[in-house]
Order: sequence, then C-alpha cells, then structure tokens
Amino acid sequence: MERILGKKLCGGIAIGPIHFLDGEKACTCSEVLDPDRELSRFESACTEAKAQLNKLQIKAQHEAGEEAAEIFEIHAMLLEDDDFCDAVRQNITQKHWDAAYAAQQAGESIAADFLAMDNEYFRARSADIRDVAARVAGVLQGKRPEQQSVPGIVAAEELTPSQTIQMDATQLLGFVTRQGSPSSHTAILARSMAIPAIAGVAVNPEWEGKTAILDGNEGLLLLNPDEQTLTMYQSRAAVQKAEKAQLKALIGQENVSRSGRIIKIFANAGSLADIALAQQNDAGGIGLFRTEFLYLDAPALPDEQQQFAVYKRALLAMPGKRIVFRTMDIGADKQVSYLDLGQEANPALGCRAVRYCLSHQEVFRTQLRALYRASAYGKLSIMYPMITSAEELDEIYAVSASVREELRRAGTAFDETVPEGIMIETPAAAVISDLLAKKADFFSIGTNDLTQYTLAVDRQNPNLGSFYQPHHEAILRLIRMTVENAHKAGKPVGICGELGADISLTEAFLDMGVDELSVAPLSVLKIRKAVRQAL
Ligand code: PEP
Ligand code: MG
Repeated sequence: MERILGKKLCGGIAIGPIHFLDGEKACTCSEVLDPDRELSRFESACTEAKAQLNKLQIKAQHEAGEEAAEIFEIHAMLLEDDDFCDAVRQNITQKHWDAAYAAQQAGESIAADFLAMDNEYFRARSADIRDVAARVAGVLQGKRPEQQSVPGIVAAEELTPSQTIQMDATQLLGFVTRQGSPSSHTAILARSMAIPAIAGVAVNPEWEGKTAILDGNEGLLLLNPDEQTLTMYQSRAAVQKAEKAQLKALIGQENVSRSGRIIKIFANAGSLADIALAQQNDAGGIGLFRTEFLYLDAPALPDEQQQFAVYKRALLAMPGKRIVFRTMDIGADKQVSYLDLGQEANPALGCRAVRYCLSHQEVFRTQLRALYRASAYGKLSIMYPMITSAEELDEIYAVSASVREELRRAGTAFDETVPEGIMIETPAAAVISDLLAKKADFFSIGTNDLTQYTLAVDRQNPNLGSFYQPHHEAILRLIRMTVENAHKAGKPVGICGELGADISLTEAFLDMGVDELSVAPLSVLKIRKAVRQAL
C-alpha cells in the first residue's frame, strides 16, 4: 500500500479504481499562407466556444449551483478579453501560425503571467485561461466536446473546470491532481458538487485501474490498500453515507426541541457558492454573509456596481429568505494589499472593520450604497462588526442615514426598513449590550473574536491552542448577559461564531433563549438534529 499526502480541496471518502485522464494534447503548428482566413476561423471558433460555454453554464447551474455557473460566465468573458484576442491575432498575422496553435500559445503565455503572480487567487486563474484557450483550439481542430463517463477516481495532471463539469457526476467518485489549489475554480466546483478531491500529488499514468482510497478529509491517497485498511475505510464511508442520509431526512423539518422550543438555524456564507450550499442544506437564511471575499479576491477595490451585482445575486439565489450582510471586516488576519492599512504592531487590536470604515468613509459609503441598492431585491439586513461603544454606533448610523438620504434624493429604489444590527464580538460590546440594544435592531454574537479578546488569546496563534477556550465561563456569562439585554429591549439575538455549531452547547443556547444560530452550511442539519433531540 502506498500513502501519498496532498492538499485538501474537498472532504469526503471515495473508494474505487483509478482512471488516469490524459491532458489536452498540445497542438502542432502548421504555417499558414492565408492569415485572413485564419483570423476569420478564429472569430467563428470564439462564437462556437461561447455557445458551448453557455451550455456548460446551464449544466453547472443545475448540478453545482450559482457560483459554479459563474465560472463559465467568466470563461465566456475571457473569450472577449483584448489581451487574449489580440495575442491570438498577432500570432496569426505576425508569426503566421494557424489559428489553433495561435490560440493555444496565447493562452499559455497569459497563463504563465498569471502563474508568476504572488497572489494565490491570481495564480489559480492560469488554469482558467488555459481552459478557454484549449476550448477555442479544440473547436478549430474540429473536436466535439464529449460527455465523459468515468467510473472511479480520476487522476490527472490538471483538471480544468470544463473537464470537471463535463464528467458524469454519478460516475466521478473523486479526483486527484498534481496541479490545483483550494482557490482554483476546479476546487470550487468539487466542493459545490461534494466530490472528494486532493491536489499536489505526483500522479502517474501507471496507476490506471489500481484500487485507491481517496480521503479528502485528510488530503490522503492510499494506493493498493491492504485488506484491513480497505475494510476500515469501507465502514467509515458507510457510516458517513448513513449519517448523510439521516441528516438529509431532516430537510424540510422544523427546528423544534422535544418540549416545543423553536430556534432559527441560518448559515454563514463567505461566497456565492456557500449560498447554494445553504439552500441545499435547508438553512432558514444567511445569518452572516462575510463580504470580505469581495475585497480579498480582487486586484483593486471593488466598485459599487461590482458589489451590488454580488449582493443582488446572493439575494436572488435565496428568495424570501433573509441575508445578513456584514460590512467589510478587513484588517487583522484579513489584509488587503491595495488598501492602505499600514504596518501595525497588533493588527487584531488595530484599524480593523468599522474602525477602518469610519476613517475611510468613501470606501464605507460605497459598500453601503451597494447594499441598500441590493435591498430592493430581497430580505437584506446590514450588520456592523467590531463594535465597542454606543458613540461609534451613532457615528455609523449617521453615515448609513446619509447614504439612504442620498439614494432617496437620486430616486434610487431601496428597502426603507433594512434592519441594521451589530456583532457582539468584543467584551466591551457584551458588557454594554444593554445600551447597544437600545440602538441596534439585532445582535449577532461573534464567539470567535469574543473568545480571542476576552481571554487575550490570539486566535491565529497555533501555539496558544490550549488557551483558546470558547467554553470558558467568562464567554458563557457574556453570551447569557448579551441575550438577556437584547431581550429586555425586545431585540433578537443570534450566535454566528463557531460556538454556534457546537452541539454540546445547543441545549444551553436553547435554555438561554438564543433566537438564532448561524453556522457553516454543512452544519445546518447537524444542529437541527441536536435541537430536535434537546428537551
Ligand atoms: C466571530 O468573530 O465570531 C465571527 C463570526 O467573525 P469572524 O470569524 O469573521 O471574525
Ligand atoms: Mg469576528
């Protein structure tokens, strides 16, 4: 048995034969005498490639959700990208290459530029541009896009998003690749389709047909497993399958305890893919939409229109359900190179979240304008992170009131009743929660930071793990106090930190009267089960 460790892309266990997938064959160049003809062949190939991408977008929407579908929309946009198209045209007219070779080489050269970037997100985009170039080259060579049917675990140097979505999902047990990173579009697709996957493995064509176990939870590939290991993994996979089926049976059921107590179970989201997962897992809404990904994944500050498009898309993907958008929680562990955050000795205690927003109001107003405009498309709430005082909240509300006034004057449609709540994630906020409850429309307790700041333990420091104790009596008292103060003022209160998903505390949270738990999408049904088992 061979044990090979890779990078985790998507959890879960797959057991089956390896199917080795050959990469796209490189085109060979043939010199052309009629560049104009090649130019027009290239233009028609782009039109055909766009039509193919449109079909894949629909397939992805159906099988893997909104964000997966968006990948193919981005590919279609790449086909119109001047850098790519101009490079292909130059390859044809100046180097006299045929259109297929010209497209493939243009893709390779742009992909190499992406690969040389520092930012992991942009490095991952090299696979997308190569995928698009290969599609155009394929059309020019007369290749028909085939529905691949592969029983087993696919091994490949690299899997493009197109190859992944084209596979028959019922036959694809898992995949292992050499290339690829957790932020690649292929990894996003794997997670949307719940296919166990790992990358960073030196795959070998000689593995074809060999039995393997792919443990996506541990990032492990076991080749030719011995009987004992195989039996152990088979029973583990069977347990996981049974648990999944048991949880699936809870879809559509109420979050009600045995004595009739009801609690809302919402999901946390950090991307549009999470919205799809939240829907699949029957979340009542999104209790925390971390908007940071918009800033972290972008090369420059996203403008109002770009933000509005994402917020609107999220709301349209969850019709009738509430989404609580948290304004940008940038700073501390979430550094963004294009924002002027400066060097700080203690970033977790520094210019983070609303502190940044209040000192950079144009950035803040842009986000608020985008949020309010999106409120016309669904049930939207706004939540402010890292609050420490009532005066700070007054300042924030003054900004949001002036943004609303600006929109009103411009005749822009928005929901006048958007609730504005706050995160309780500093000890100060919990201690003065009676004062804050008079101003905020709702509370959501961020136990991750509340633990960090109350116990003075850096949540990022792996050496302090044993000191990071969310069950500490100080944390539980602050939660209880916050819930009581919220309720005295008639305001609802939820928990959106990791502690909300801790089933050993579900009954305690019911006892305290917490109104809502917001947890990772894949934990929604697990919490529903715990609620239904509690008294
Ligand atoms: C928290 O602090 O508990 C929280 C939910 O916010 P984040 O983890 O994004 O800081
Ligand atoms: Mg926090």
